[in-house]
Amino acid sequence: MSTVVLVTGGSGLVGKAIEHVINTEPESSRFGKRPGEKWVFANSTEGDLKDPVQTEKLFEKYKPTHVIHLAALVGGLFKNMKYKLTFLRDNTLINDNVLHFSHTKNVQKVISCLSTCVFPDKVTYPLDETKIHDGPPHESNFGYANAKRMVDVMNHAYKEEFGCNFTSAIPTNVFGPHDNFDLEDSHVIPGLIHKCYRAKQNNTPFAVSGTGKPLRQFIFSYDLARLFIWMLREYDDVEPVILSVGEEEEVSIKSVADKIVKTVGFQGEYKFDSTKADGQFRKPASNKRLLTLMSQNKNEQQFKFTPFDEALEYTVKWFVENYNKGA
Ligand code: GDP
Repeated sequence: MSTVVLVTGGSGLVGKAIEHVINTEPESSRFGKRPGEKWVFANSTEGDLKDPVQTEKLFEKYKPTHVIHLAALVGGLFKNMKYKLTFLRDNTLINDNVLHFSHTKNVQKVISCLSTCVFPDKVTYPLDETKIHDGPPHESNFGYANAKRMVDVMNHAYKEEFGCNFTSAIPTNVFGPHDNFDLEDSHVIPGLIHKCYRAKQNNTPFAVSGTGKPLRQFIFSYDLARLFIWMLREYDDVEPVILSVGEEEEVSIKSVADKIVKTVGFQGEYKFDSTKADGQFRKPASNKRLLTLMSQNKNEQQFKFTPFDEALEYTVKWFVENYNKGA
């Protein structure tokens, strides 16, 4: 039987990265497209996943055997703070529809994308896969976080009641080409790249929100794409897997901003606006489970993450090249 992989949210940051990896890695590699595989990258023009009728139609159209579920209402800290109920409700509806129709249409495997914001605010670090439900998430994005947490609960319930092979991936902060580069509602890297580029063009100051002190672990979208493909082919358990660089690779927002200033070639005034929120100070996550699982296949080499500076430069370049095309 042939394999049809349906990627929901297929035109977003991670969907585009999976499409890139699947189409550029050799067939013989761990991550390239295999013979007999069909990949479908669906976006919102194909149907509104908040609506069960439209979701069912999508599943009937493509008859997927596997689903990588990326579609979600997403945004950075500031958008999350503004629209808590909308984040909770829209994502709950989307996730319920996708998992329900995956079950009723006999999809063999689903991997849903969560985020490290599902973890409790008050928790011992580093985060690991056992700590998701150990306390309430940070108040700044509790709408989104609770909707995403419920995916893990649903995966367990689908497994226990129906034996479904549904699981989830928990990436740390993702960045790369095709991100949302909106000035206000995006995540920190695309937001700062766009702001810095504009400041350079207009000869205006470059203002970074918050103190610059918070720490984050960033994963390049192409690396994350490879890890999703690995999960799809080699991981069959309900427990989530954190997809991240090592916890020792946290970087401060200031050092991210410094690197963007350098890469963009901005020489004007550069400042931090500490009247704006910092969000969580840090949330280091362990990738121990990921590395252990991946190394169980002795025929494969150890997974290599793209160095942060290299990936950031690639992303800045991509943005500059695509800016005038409306990136
Ligand atoms: P999250 O807080 O990990 O969910 O993700 P973000 O990508 O939104 O990162 C937020 C961190 O970057 C906070 O410490 C913000 O204060 C800081 N930050 C600085 N400038 C920006 C910006 O332009 N956009 C966003 N989203 N965050 C920014």
